Amino acid sequence: MEPRIAVVGGGAAGLVAALEAARAGAPVALLERGKALGRKILASGGGRCNLTHRDIRPERYHGGGGVRDLVGEALSGFDAAWARAYFEGLGLMLMSEPDGRVFPRCGRSRAVVDVLQAALNELGADIRLNAGVAAVEKDGEGFLLRLESGGDLRARSVVLCCGGPSYPQLGGSGSGPALAESLGHSCVAAAPALVPLRVKESWVKMLDGIRVEAALRAEAEGRTVAESRGELLFTAYGISGPAALDLSREALRALAGGRVSCAVDLFPEWGDGEFRKLLEERALRFGRRSLAGFLTGMLPGRLPEVFLEQQGLGPHDRVEALGAAGLEALQRGLKGWRFELLGPRPWEEAMVSSGGVSLPEVDPGSLESRKAPGLFLAGELLDVDGDSGGFNLHFAWASGARAGRAASTR
Ligand SMILES: Cc1cc2nc3c(=O)[nH]c(=O)nc-3n(C[C@H](O)[C@H](O)[C@H](O)COP(=O)(O)OP(=O)(O)OC[C@H]3O[C@@H](n4cnc5c(N)ncnc54)[C@H](O)[C@@H]3O)c2cc1C
Repeated sequence: MEPRIAVVGGGAAGLVAALEAARAGAPVALLERGKALGRKILASGGGRCNLTHRDIRPERYHGGGGVRDLVGEALSGFDAAWARAYFEGLGLMLMSEPDGRVFPRCGRSRAVVDVLQAALNELGADIRLNAGVAAVEKDGEGFLLRLESGGDLRARSVVLCCGGPSYPQLGGSGSGPALAESLGHSCVAAAPALVPLRVKESWVKMLDGIRVEAALRAEAEGRTVAESRGELLFTAYGISGPAALDLSREALRALAGGRVSCAVDLFPEWGDGEFRKLLEERALRFGRRSLAGFLTGMLPGRLPEVFLEQQGLGPHDRVEALGAAGLEALQRGLKGWRFELLGPRPWEEAMVSSGGVSLPEVDPGSLESRKAPGLFLAGELLDVDGDSGGFNLHFAWASGARAGRAASTR
């Protein structure tokens, strides 16, 4: 039997779109180019799958014109409570962390893919792996899908859920925008978002693997262009971890226009005045220690030593010899350690891509194309990208559900 709905892409958005269409009683075919479903889901959250966040809000999403309106409407009724209920309804137990991120309780992203796949199998959905779609053409009332393997398939509605170009090793490609453009859409050029950043200071490699809680501020020409706070991971080439990833989108945009520096506040819990007092108190208590010894217990691993060297302060100098000006310099460095940003790491390390199908060309309620009726679009393929913390997968589930349900009513 020919499917009424063809869902292209078996990632987060496609799995939920197919499931919701199948639940509505529509014959569905799910076409996935790779040899497995949900490869990015499996890799997400360090293998634990940070599948949503307790505080899903349109402000946590970015994109071109109309992004807040589209996301606001697409997420209405598909909020954090919906996502919890949706996965719990599939039998998945969940847990949330104090910062609001939600994970499967078993700590395994495999469980997320398994419950979705099991539900699709129960409903008899036609899941096809190694089934890349090379072209989608308008065909009377419906569509003709040409497969990369040579065959073809007709469907009344198509839900495109092909994701973006990030992580090509997990199926990321530019295929979704190309298919959408062939049906009359325009796309905002893709750029890496949530991507680790390279810095100019090559000595950063001495900090490789060190994690700290920090606040970051990206500055261009003395102006703040982006701020973030959370775990920062130093790497052999620069900075990564949630704080760096969340900064990357806006920092990279600013970099396109000139130099951008990043100020790292290693003690964001304290304001300048409070932190100065804390340093003074510690200097009184531990005045006889070396500067490196003074910072040990405040900062992890080799960080004190490297920090002091880069600030031009002798790790072996005594704290009591610092004086007020020295303490002031120490404070300024600890709350505003500067790095010069050079650019992103490659697509292979960009968790999300910004850009995609232009939002005004999509109906926000149904996610149906305004260019090709019967075509629906969901997930990262749209010009929407979220902050780190579960926002991207949440958008994929929510938009997939909305598009799958709407497609089943045509
Ligand atoms: C390493 C990593 C960790 C991440 N961690 C998190 C996290 O913890 N929390 C979070 O919220 N987000 C996370 N993300 C982002 C999140 O995984 C994505 O935003 C989300 O998977 C997007 O879902 P999607 O369905 O739109 O696209 P994808 O999941 O990319 O799925 C698209 C699918 O379409 C297939 N496809 C493409 N073209 C075709 C074609 N022509 N024919 C057939 N099939 C095709 C691809 O093979 C792929 O399987 C992470 C991403 C990565 C790479």
